[in-house]
Amino acid sequence: MKFKNCIVAFGAVLTLSAAYPVQAVDQHVAPPEDPSTKTAKNVIFLVPDGFSQSYASSYRLYKEDGLPIWDEKRMLRGGVQTYSADRAITDSAAAATALASGKKTNNGMVGLTPDGKEVTTMVDVAKQHGKRTGLVATSTITHATPAAFATHVQSRNEYLEIANQLVHNENVDLLFGGGRHEFMPSEKGGLRKDGQNLIEKAKESGYGYIETVNDLETWSGDEQRLLGLFADEALQPVLERGQEEPSLAEMTTQAINFLSQEEAGFFLMVEGSQIDWGGHDNDAAYAMTEMAEFDDAVKVAVDFADTNEETLIVIVADHDTGGMAVHATDKAHPSMLHGVKATGGTIASKVKKNFSNLKKVLEDQTNFKWDSSELKRLKKSKDFTLELNRMISEKAGIAWTTTGHTGVDVPLYAYGVGADLFYGTMNNTDVPGKMSEALGISGF
Ligand SMILES: [Zn+2]
Repeated sequence: MKFKNCIVAFGAVLTLSAAYPVQAVDQHVAPPEDPSTKTAKNVIFLVPDGFSQSYASSYRLYKEDGLPIWDEKRMLRGGVQTYSADRAITDSAAAATALASGKKTNNGMVGLTPDGKEVTTMVDVAKQHGKRTGLVATSTITHATPAAFATHVQSRNEYLEIANQLVHNENVDLLFGGGRHEFMPSEKGGLRKDGQNLIEKAKESGYGYIETVNDLETWSGDEQRLLGLFADEALQPVLERGQEEPSLAEMTTQAINFLSQEEAGFFLMVEGSQIDWGGHDNDAAYAMTEMAEFDDAVKVAVDFADTNEETLIVIVADHDTGGMAVHATDKAHPSMLHGVKATGGTIASKVKKNFSNLKKVLEDQTNFKWDSSELKRLKKSKDFTLELNRMISEKAGIAWTTTGHTGVDVPLYAYGVGADLFYGTMNNTDVPGKMSEALGISGF
């Protein structure tokens, strides 16, 4: 593939309503000279929530058995600007709305333009062309990223309304994730005060329903739609998940099996939801183990694309979380995080209030050595868990600059049919248009 480097960067200043000036960059790199003319039938869109170039670099150091699949397959295509309609630093709701629909919106809004108009999403466009559609996440399935592909609400926190809209959206065929309680009435132990049992409603509108790993592996119903709610709330972090909840790769495998039965093809969105949560917590072990699970899910998608040969895979984060910096040395290296047995929150919960077992818990749970000055620093900290997470991260050569999101561009990876449509510096609003172009359909 040949690229011409363009010397001049074209820019236009956008003034956002909150007075954060943002430069929207046009393409730095010319398109390939011989773009493929083949059309994809399927798109698998994988979103590592909160991931950026720093995560890519740290994870490469963390991983001990070969390269991440996106490096092995040389999938990197360019960078994506993530700003929202009203902020230089986006949240997941606005970013996912842009990735789903090509429309910028304000932080917090899901599937609506800033003035409240409902957007058309990749799910809608794929369904209009006879394809099956699916959304998979390790958060609740009502969380901002999956929600933006199939619901329209003013606030991402309207989880119960999002659940309602998900079940009633006729363009959706498959939903896998957590959040069972948001679909169930309070009389049955759920969170709904409106008396609705959305799991029953889903069954009435043609969904098969599953909720265990065994269900997921053995389901053989005739239904043309499938709802899988594998936890009452979000799935457990990978570090603490156990056997009773599925991995992202298992959910992705079964989602592809189900969706690929449709002759016209499918659109599948898969989110590694909790990479972002590790970032917010400044918990490097949490973030890296979630990355490993995401890597496995991408591998499932790549294996399918290699045999199917009519599939486009696109990977892009919604934004960076935590402002991670890579400080790896021989003495402090991300691979050392393999010795950490739990998230910082869980480790902290094992420490007695008088700190009498502090050293023992830390040595048991992290495999790092802890000297008296470090223990003192921890005991004096205002936020014990955050300080612990930052210290574990430092011991692994990873530093953080914030517990929020940052505004850095995020890398975009693509593979398979139509991958060469993605190149250079892109905007998050470009992504759905390019995915539908690869499918040979319009809609954005
Ligand atoms: Zn976040």
